[in-house]
Amino acid sequence: MDIKFCGAATGVTGSCHLLTWEGHQVLLDCGQFQGGRAQEAMNFEPFPFHPGDIECVILSHAHIDHCGRLPLLVKRGFKGTIYCTKATADLLEIMLIDSAYIHEKEAEWKNKKNQRAGRPLVEPLYTHEDAMEALTHVSPILYDQLKNINDSAHVVFNDAGHILGSAIVELWVTENKKTSKIVFSGDLGVMDRPILRDPTRIKKADYVIMETTYGNRNHPKEQAGMEALLDIVEETVKRGGTVVIPSFAVGRTQELIYEFNKYYTTDNPYRKTLDKVKVYIDSPMATKATEVFKENAQVFDEETKAYLLDGNNPLDFKNLIFTRTTEESKALNADTHPKIIISASGMCEAGRIRHHLRYNLWDPRASIVFVGYQAEGTLGRNLLEGLDEAILFGEPVKVKAQIHNLQGFSGHADQQGLLWWLQGFQQKPKELFLVHGEIQSKEDFAQLAQRELGYEPVVISQVAQYQLESGEELSREENLQEVIDEKMIEEMQKTIGDIHGAVERFLYDSKLAISGDSSLEKMVKINNTLRELHKDTIELGSILYDEQEKA
Ligand code: ZN
Repeated sequence: MDIKFCGAATGVTGSCHLLTWEGHQVLLDCGQFQGGRAQEAMNFEPFPFHPGDIECVILSHAHIDHCGRLPLLVKRGFKGTIYCTKATADLLEIMLIDSAYIHEKEAEWKNKKNQRAGRPLVEPLYTHEDAMEALTHVSPILYDQLKNINDSAHVVFNDAGHILGSAIVELWVTENKKTSKIVFSGDLGVMDRPILRDPTRIKKADYVIMETTYGNRNHPKEQAGMEALLDIVEETVKRGGTVVIPSFAVGRTQELIYEFNKYYTTDNPYRKTLDKVKVYIDSPMATKATEVFKENAQVFDEETKAYLLDGNNPLDFKNLIFTRTTEESKALNADTHPKIIISASGMCEAGRIRHHLRYNLWDPRASIVFVGYQAEGTLGRNLLEGLDEAILFGEPVKVKAQIHNLQGFSGHADQQGLLWWLQGFQQKPKELFLVHGEIQSKEDFAQLAQRELGYEPVVISQVAQYQLESGEELSREENLQEVIDEKMIEEMQKTIGDIHGAVERFLYDSKLAISGDSSLEKMVKINNTLRELHKDTIELGSILYDEQEKA
């Protein structure tokens, strides 16, 4: 049996591994590359295999860096089945439809610029129809259910505790009458997280493919918890302001609802304040995702199930309101009562959160509370770093609200968690492949695994193929990092060209405006050019930042 690592090799995104034996070809994940223009450009590259030859995909979970290229796989000829857990199948629908929408918007935006620059137009990576088509290939199975995927292989999903539905894959393959077992960790979660069960430890494997996102880091012991958030709520309510929480629609938002529910339904010092305050979930995607959570209660952890058995709905309470329409969302801003608004996107780059920032950022009584990671260059990160004026819907908005940073635990196991999981194997597997981490993270974890457990892991750093039984490396097809570097230079040149064009148009239009030939239409044009310039500069900044980080 051969394994080919096609993604999550140089970094943490684009998870995709191909298993080949006796005429069978099976894919583990089919994720999207993310994190900057160069990485995104990688998604358009051909797959290092023929999609039409793939028999089935075994999907670990619904994060885009694990499932985001499935519609493209189908578009390029895949005819087989996509196996995943039921909760993953439910979340997949939300994720892929949202992702298709983003790709369509992205292509629209690029084509506006391409048209002006006389460059050829681009197609979106995939469309809504492609996403819908991909979803027809999904065949959900239960955790612990043994599923034959062909005449010589079967699979079992175990809870990975990373997001709802996430799985560690056990795969048995029989070749030449000999059966080998492959374990694919997917993304491993953290112990004692709300709602989710702890990651499952697997006892036996011949070959292990393991993620190492936090292979050289441990999460801080002392974490600002729910009570820190409730203290902020109390103070903000006292001032008569609104608490705005930008939050990822899938996962983090449901955890917040779960935590708020505890304080809204028990006796505690915050209860008096909370009874007067409504919590609004203002994100259609978060609302849909919460429905998926409610429909998949069978995979909750024991604590959450106990709530359910007590007749409590852990994802609902009296003061919780899901807004449905745009009108309901807008009405929140006219309402002057202190309240809590949880909205997406989590990094404030798009979505309804931007309306709430527009209406609250200038208000010294309000609080903006960040509960998740904020990437470089995003509005969220800029606010955390002390931005004093934001541009929202073309208007400057002064930042007078209090900005708080309460980043909770990451959804990924840290170094100790990874080691704990690896210790679960009762016998050392024949081979341990480390994927899904920055190179330093993989190498540091490899050293740790050697020192502590006597492993000699194979660190995967580019597209490469191995023969499993002999451990022999068969080929290195391309150096992914070199491809990314080339793309980066290409994207930088394009962006610099766009900035150049925008500056020229700005100078020309503003000269006309100064000379008296200024109409409203012209001013709107100037404003649009400035917005484009702003976005391009941020993009260039983030491409350069990626480059610096590597150096
Ligand atoms: Zn993930």
